[in-house]
Amino acid sequence: MLDQFGREINYLRISVTDRCNLRCIYCMPEEGIKLIKHEDVLSYEEIFEFVKVAVQFGINKIRFTGGEPLVRKGFVNLVKMISSIKEIKDLSLTTNGLLLSHYAKELKEAGLMRVNVSLDAIDKNEYSRITCGGNVEEVLNGIRIAKEVGLSPIKINCVIQKSTKEKNAIDVKNYCEENELIPRFIQEMDIEKGEFGVVHGGNGGDCENCNRLRLTSDGNLKPCLFNDISINIRKVKYDEAIKFVIENKPACGLSGASHKFYNIGG
Ligand code: SAM
Ligand code: SF4
Repeated sequence: MLDQFGREINYLRISVTDRCNLRCIYCMPEEGIKLIKHEDVLSYEEIFEFVKVAVQFGINKIRFTGGEPLVRKGFVNLVKMISSIKEIKDLSLTTNGLLLSHYAKELKEAGLMRVNVSLDAIDKNEYSRITCGGNVEEVLNGIRIAKEVGLSPIKINCVIQKSTKEKNAIDVKNYCEENELIPRFIQEMDIEKGEFGVVHGGNGGDCENCNRLRLTSDGNLKPCLFNDISINIRKVKYDEAIKFVIENKPACGLSGASHKFYNIGG
């Protein structure tokens, strides 16, 4: 469906959980987060029913994100359910990769097509510092297995402070070249100020061509990451919620809008 600015809205990002097995310094506040209550988290059945309605409005591309999608129990079943919807032409996942070595094969068999793996450093100590204790070897192993089972293409999301010439970014770029992976460098955004960040090698932040809607794990459907407009899909009919957010998708995001990556999903 076209929005009021003539953009064809065909992409839905679904955050399946706000829980995560890492604590990246730019994503999770130091004081910890207030977790969404279990009863407020959408069930897989609800997500499935919602997507079946969304495809009638032209959604044909789905990305799962989080929190960390792979920490939610039974996530592979959700992939299976969504991939069974014939209108879905593109099904992908953004993950920190820690559990990818365990799930890559099952995910592929369930119908997942491709993955974006977040990797901000190759150096063991740097990776551990940024993620507050993560083991980079597990991520690299996960990427290797994802490649082996045929998830393709594999994109690597790397958050940079200021420039792609930083040591960690250069290491990631070299690693991608050596392993035929596609790097995407994302400017770190200030979660307090909600500043925009450009995605180098992606189309995030390009409002004119933005084709996305977002669904948070507690059911808030949002037309834009940088705007507070949202409607909870448990409170209205699914088709009304979708129509509402498409009709109210802003021309451009506002810097300063409240923003929590671990809930909305980057
Ligand atoms: N846990 C998964 C992961 O890390 O890939 C999926 C969710 S995470 C919120 C999605 C993406 O948002 C990651 O690539 C992460 O690097 C990015 N992200 C989180 N906080 C950010 C920030 N403050 N600025 C820019 N990107 C951020
Ligand atoms: Fe977790 Fe992803 Fe946020 Fe890191 S960026 S804390 S892995 S949700």
